[in-house]
Amino acid sequence: MPMYEFKCECGEVTEELVRMGTETIKCPKCGRKAHKILSNCTFSLKGGGWYADGYAAKKKS
Ligand SMILES: [Zn+2]
Repeated sequence: MPMYEFKCECGEVTEELVRMGTETIKCPKCGRKAHKILSNCTFSLKGGGWYADGYAAKKKS
């Protein structure tokens, strides 16, 4: 299984091993949905295939 990073609205970033296609997990800190961050290596440079919130999430600190 691939490892992905998920970022919650609360700012918590969590690494999880999840199945392909998993878009959200439950944030361990606040229990809300954390959304998958698309890393640069899996980013499609052709564009069009990724979500706006994935794009916004890549500017993590
Ligand atoms: Zn949270």
